[in-house]
Amino acid sequence: MQQFQQYIGGSFSDGSARFTSVDPATGADWAEMPEAREADVNDAVEAAEAAFFSPEWALTTATARGKLLHRLADLIAENAPRLAELETRDTGKIIRETSAQIAYVADYFRYYAGLADKIQGAHLPIDKPDMEVWLRREPVGVVAAVVPWNSQLFLSAVKIGPALAAGCTVVLKTSEEGPAPMLEFARIFDQAGFPAGVFNVITGGPAAGAALTSHPKVAHVAFTGGPDTARHIVRNSAENLASTSLELGGKSPFIVFDDADIESAVNAQVSGIFAATGQSCVSGSRLVVHTAIKDEFLARLKEKAEAVVIGAPGDMATEVGPLCTQRQRDTALRLIRESIAAGAKLVTGGTVPEREGYFFPPTILDCSDAPEAPSLTHEFFGPVLSVVSFETEAEALAIANNTEFGLASGLFTRDLTRAHRMVRAIRAGIVWINTYRAVSPIAPFGGHGLSGHGREGGIEAALEYTKTKSVWLRTSDDPIPDPFVMR
Ligand code: NAD
Repeated sequence: MQQFQQYIGGSFSDGSARFTSVDPATGADWAEMPEAREADVNDAVEAAEAAFFSPEWALTTATARGKLLHRLADLIAENAPRLAELETRDTGKIIRETSAQIAYVADYFRYYAGLADKIQGAHLPIDKPDMEVWLRREPVGVVAAVVPWNSQLFLSAVKIGPALAAGCTVVLKTSEEGPAPMLEFARIFDQAGFPAGVFNVITGGPAAGAALTSHPKVAHVAFTGGPDTARHIVRNSAENLASTSLELGGKSPFIVFDDADIESAVNAQVSGIFAATGQSCVSGSRLVVHTAIKDEFLARLKEKAEAVVIGAPGDMATEVGPLCTQRQRDTALRLIRESIAAGAKLVTGGTVPEREGYFFPPTILDCSDAPEAPSLTHEFFGPVLSVVSFETEAEALAIANNTEFGLASGLFTRDLTRAHRMVRAIRAGIVWINTYRAVSPIAPFGGHGLSGHGREGGIEAALEYTKTKSVWLRTSDDPIPDPFVMR
């Protein structure tokens, strides 16, 4: 079995305990990983705090931080195939996507490398003639980053990049399901030339996550995962009163009007729900389609769903791979069963193929006559699409907003004025019009409601890792007037 190590204070070690990681494509053990216990969490946070206050990091100029991040981006690009391969092996995410996503990972670091020396304070036109007041924008301190198993390299990059650009230090806890890519990332990070302790990687499950996010020396918690875990994170942060940014799940509507380019909308819907084997927070998992085109749309979608190539995640031809865990598959099967009992009709899929590993086929459930079907409200985190039809724009909007989540949304129409009306009224952090699942380091990403708060990507993300300090300088040489009156 392959062996992996944690990375604390610039050194690699086995960790207090070890566990074996399973290959989701076969269900077999394939690697041995470190499992952080409280002592490892403490060591990592202590290392990050020491690095934060060390002259080697605290006095590194923003421009120099940017150069280090550029170097890291180059190293990631050089090691891209190995990183993609490990993510595929340990999480079952298909190689087609991990190889494409790794290019974005390098791009995110380049974006934040360039941004590092543009994160700036301000001079204030203060309302007192004998004062100069300015704002320094300073790093918050030690950041605890906690990520889920899907897209770990990407979801970690969108935290590490802005946090380091801002001058913070980071302890990242990988997911216990598939930590290999981030442990390998640590080996690459180690070559970039950052001072020891600026970035640390530990593994482990809820106990390690709780110890990290409640640690008294952590100033900010950047979390991606499910809403139930987010509630724990918020409770944990009652201990250290750390600020939080929460990127959670979604039940995103994909709305298709009867004037849409159907071919393009069908392709975008396939990408929105079946790409990444549906294990994507922005998955367009509710198709809201106009009744006039519903039959044609569903027929075309069914044809494409049934033609999807299901196979080994490491094969470039594979379009849908296994789910990451048996638990994910059990949840999908249960929700489908309950939705059919509530009146939903199975259009395609829904049964587990006879092969080893946690495979699950592209599945479509028509819930037009089953408004109470749980598949309309629960996140599957798998390739399962629930369909509802509508007659009017107001109905489409009401269905779209009938969710506690609010991460992404898709809108297919050729009517520009309608698109503008919908954009204003949709409650979601992202609206894609006539496209879906596009991301960029330049554009902020985040949600409303149960989808969380805070933004990743763009300038906004870097500001999440800073706080301002107001500095007052009295310019008068006269004695300070009445000391008992606030000035
Ligand atoms: P999860 O919430 O179960 O776990 C996420 C991380 O939290 C893991 O590292 C886990 O070990 C840790 N954790 C668990 N309990 C903890 C606790 N008590 N304290 C601290 N940390 C704890 O999520 P998952 O099942 O790994 O991933 C799927 C979820 O992630 C889905 O809901 C999905 O929508 C969401 N997600 C969101 C985004 C986004 O950007 N909005 C992206 C990807 C995934």
